[in-house]
Amino acid sequence: MVRSQILAGLRYGGGLVLLLLCTAAQAGPAAVELAAAADRASLTPHLVYHHDADAVDDAAQAFARADADGFAPLPSGNAAFGFQRGAFWFHAALRNDNPQEPRWLLVQEYPLSDRIDVYLRHADGRVEHRAGGDHLPFSQRSVRYRHPNFLLDLPPGERVDLLVRVESQSSMQVPLELYTPTAFTELSRDAQFAIGLYYGILLALFFYNLVLWLSLRDASYFWYLFHISAFGLVLFTLNGLGFEYLWPGSPWLADRSVPLSICLALVAMQQFARTFLELPQRWPRGNLVSLAVIGFFVLFGLASLWLPYRVSTPIASRAVLVGLIWIVVATVFVMRRGYAPARILLLAWAMFLLGTAVFTLLAFGLLPKNFATEYGVQIGSALEMLLLSVALGYRYAALRNENERIVNEARLQLERKVAQRTQEVRSALMQLEEAHGRLRDSSRRDGLTGLYNRTWFHEAFERMLDQARGERRPLSLLMIDLDHFKAINDRLGHLAGDECLRWAAHRIGKALRPHDALLARFGGEEFVVALPARDLPAAVAVAEEVRQTLTKAPCQAQGHNVRISASIGVHTINTEALDDIDDALEVADRALYAAKANGRDCVRTSISAA
Ligand code: GH3
Ligand code: MG
Ligand code: MG
Repeated sequence: MVRSQILAGLRYGGGLVLLLLCTAAQAGPAAVELAAAADRASLTPHLVYHHDADAVDDAAQAFARADADGFAPLPSGNAAFGFQRGAFWFHAALRNDNPQEPRWLLVQEYPLSDRIDVYLRHADGRVEHRAGGDHLPFSQRSVRYRHPNFLLDLPPGERVDLLVRVESQSSMQVPLELYTPTAFTELSRDAQFAIGLYYGILLALFFYNLVLWLSLRDASYFWYLFHISAFGLVLFTLNGLGFEYLWPGSPWLADRSVPLSICLALVAMQQFARTFLELPQRWPRGNLVSLAVIGFFVLFGLASLWLPYRVSTPIASRAVLVGLIWIVVATVFVMRRGYAPARILLLAWAMFLLGTAVFTLLAFGLLPKNFATEYGVQIGSALEMLLLSVALGYRYAALRNENERIVNEARLQLERKVAQRTQEVRSALMQLEEAHGRLRDSSRRDGLTGLYNRTWFHEAFERMLDQARGERRPLSLLMIDLDHFKAINDRLGHLAGDECLRWAAHRIGKALRPHDALLARFGGEEFVVALPARDLPAAVAVAEEVRQTLTKAPCQAQGHNVRISASIGVHTINTEALDDIDDALEVADRALYAAKANGRDCVRTSISAA
């Protein structure tokens, strides 16, 4: 029996619409006796029914049928028939044995029926009639409550016949309960508390994530807000609260709100999953399926404005199941590709499905009725919303970490590039420095002999002079001029002359090497030498060495043995006096002139010249 109930449930219900199923009960019509101390009674076990498929019977005919035992026991003891045409009549005989309570409240614990007519036949044959259901404005209800309810006068000790006629486009579910006003107040207090708690959690999550969305502007937060609102609306509608608070004057909306809110919730759910899982990037094909599912729910939502309720609601319920399964498939797929935040998402969906499963098992009597099972869907969906919010936070943190990693990597790469470029610039600078050094050196040198030129000699000599003055040490000058050089040129040609000049420069340099001297070509076949820390006699000795090194052996030039000699003038500068370079050079030149005058190939000093 249970199995057939489950199958029937899955056929009509599926997913959310399992909510529409109501409590299980045992079959067997019997008169209901409201005991002396009773404050509530379930009528369902005592109901018998008749399906008036063409909705033609009136109350009198129905009473007549009931009197003639023409009503049947409830199939499987349950006043749930799914989507049906025509009207259903339910009958029960009542006797109120509680003298304290002459008034009772009849409650149909299913909020979505269109038309309910309650007929109460008293012992004297008088028939009272009450009408309800969401085809009448909410204000018509006996008590302002989300389930249709009717206040009945049940005079103690009197037997009355109760007939309830229900005609509805929604699922035919007529679980009937009787309460004393006090018992009803207690019951509704508990139920309202549970519902209030649920919507309180939803509202807190909504505002918390609203603030996050406003500050972060991340699209998945927006779709989360949409999802939580639309899902809240679905339960609000299914609980009968939508009719009570949102559209109490619109039976039209009361009919369409179920498929419409389901479509809205599914669009938001799919869109949320799509953005959260980043399907367009992570699974483009899956993204197309998601878009198709969203497209279906948008179109179906619009169509449900025109479609009859009996057609749209079962389709919507089945589509919910398909939509939910698709979301789980997409979540598992993306998770298996290594996207960590999807794990929390999967847990969230699992909570929701678990809550729905618990409620379904309760509906089929497989779980005991308590707070956790009765509000399984609410608890499951509250946990789902909570976990989705956690998943959003987790995803945001993961995104931020990834961004930081990218920024760090970019920074490191930049640093590496800068270091590389700096190294390149440094080496270019060094090459430039070298080239500059070579250029500077070549600008100091004479092209023919490789000796320092006159300009550089001037600079260097000035520094030597300063140093000699500072150290109070002598500084001597040699002026060297090759003898009869013009004749060599004339005799052997300019090239041979050049060779001789190079040879003489080399020999003079070699002779001066031990003396820490500064040698330069002064111009033509003339050389100048600065000798630091040499007084006149020492300088004369060095000059003599130089002179002799030239005459020791002839120069080989263009195949000729050329004898080369030089005249040398020597001058030691008085570092105490303020002679300048030109004065000193002039004095040395004079000494050279004296050497020339004295027959050449000899050394003369400024003193001997004077
Ligand atoms: P003196 O003994 O009086 O110094 O006679 P001199 O011929 O050496 O003197 P003079 O100053 O009359 O001539 C210098 C000559 O040196 C003139 C020039 O032909 C030669 N000379 C100067 N510079 C160079 C050079 O770079 N290459 C060559 N081949 N000859 C040079
Ligand atoms: Mg000369
Ligand atoms: Mg000469």
